[in-house]
Amino acid sequence: MPALKSYRRLTKRRIAAIVVFAAVAIVACSLSGCSRKPPGKSREAAAPQIDFAGLDTEGLQYFRDYLRFDTTNPPSNTAAAIAYLKQILDREGIQTQTFESKPGMVTLVAKLPGPPNIKPFMLMSHADVVPAVARDWSHPPFAADLDGGFVWGRGAIDNKAHGIMALMTMLAIKRAGAKLKRGVEMMVNPDEEAGGENGAQWMVENHWDAIAPEFGVNEGGSGTQGWLGSRGTTFRIAVAEKRVMWLRLIAHGTSGHGSMPNPDNPNTILIEGLSRVLENPPAYRIVPVIARAFDAMSSRMDFPASFELSHIGWPFMMDAALKGPLSSYTVQALIRDTISPTMLNAGFKVNVIPSTSEAGIDCRLLPDTNPDEFVTGLKHLLGPRIQVEFIQKPDLAPESPASGEAWDAINDVVARDFRDEAPLVVPSLMAGGTDSRFLRLKGAPSYGFVPIVISQSEAARIHGVDERLSVDNLDRGIRATYDLTMELCRANQ
Ligand SMILES: [Zn+2]
Repeated sequence: MPALKSYRRLTKRRIAAIVVFAAVAIVACSLSGCSRKPPGKSREAAAPQIDFAGLDTEGLQYFRDYLRFDTTNPPSNTAAAIAYLKQILDREGIQTQTFESKPGMVTLVAKLPGPPNIKPFMLMSHADVVPAVARDWSHPPFAADLDGGFVWGRGAIDNKAHGIMALMTMLAIKRAGAKLKRGVEMMVNPDEEAGGENGAQWMVENHWDAIAPEFGVNEGGSGTQGWLGSRGTTFRIAVAEKRVMWLRLIAHGTSGHGSMPNPDNPNTILIEGLSRVLENPPAYRIVPVIARAFDAMSSRMDFPASFELSHIGWPFMMDAALKGPLSSYTVQALIRDTISPTMLNAGFKVNVIPSTSEAGIDCRLLPDTNPDEFVTGLKHLLGPRIQVEFIQKPDLAPESPASGEAWDAINDVVARDFRDEAPLVVPSLMAGGTDSRFLRLKGAPSYGFVPIVISQSEAARIHGVDERLSVDNLDRGIRATYDLTMELCRANQ
């Protein structure tokens, strides 16, 4: 009998233990959400827990501090701003290096190393900003005021917020001790607003060994509502840029008294030549990346715009679309080579005909335009009296592929983190230039992707008056930058 008693006691204990164990397991399971998890997804079970609310609060403080450094270009002195970012990273034990191309023009590189045989993923941004005329602003451009849910300041969108998103991503990954299958590096450059010669270009040409990413993200694309008059939010991810070609036009003539107009006035020669160029603009042409974007956009537009965009190659369809969804000059810049006369320089006195007259023209070429043929056509229109010189020749950076690991990860993160916006991701060509072209020239795909959603009126403040970014956008950007980085770099434990 004692044996039976002890057996019963044992059984009761076992049952009690099983009940307690089962209860604990059920509670733990419901807390972690494991009952909803599909089998075999051990990767998600290992995801580090990140306190995003805490990270956002901390990031907002860093963002405001960073905006208060006046990094106006010229002179593009980023030394103090870079030192500020560096000490935050150093404090956390993250590897940093700085590089100075010219006095005050400092680049920061910070790294979370991965396996040595795998090239890292780069988060690239620039610390310099364009000038701001303080009297035009409703908040001082370097005070980083927090008002109405926005942080106001020159560089808030272009491009300091993106630097903070990268910074907070580095800190979060380091603190979580996440195991990486691919390293992460953050590069912050000076001189982007002057073309990058002393920033990203200098780094790529002189210190490629210190960076050499597999691919990277940079400014150049984010979410916009109502692009081309469409429904919903479109994330236009930049995979290519128009090619910059700057030319100087010089007309030589005969000087003389302004009271006696002579037929050899260089100003007249230049004006007439430029008129012929402007009266004969380059033809509209849809390059493949734009065709793909327009086709995707058509699903979010009403008839007839939807039909025009999805059949843009049909005869007469371009004419119709130019009066409809493609009527904006900002869009038209994406479907033709463009020529903007931006500088005119001639004469020194109103009653003196000068002997020379000069113009600067900013030409931006579509990726498949032959620059030599373009210049030949231009010279033909300008006529034999106008000399043409290069100020800047176009680069030959290849397009980043709108497919593959990085592209897919960007698509996944947009779909997940911005699902309330029902976002559509399309590849895009940028009318302007960014530092991405220097990575592309080295064979490292670079994507214009800053994970925020801004209206077209907010975007118009970039390089304009009262630039600002909402705190909500900063928070979403930190989250999505972290998620993208983890998707590309975290090891499957
Ligand atoms: Zn920028």
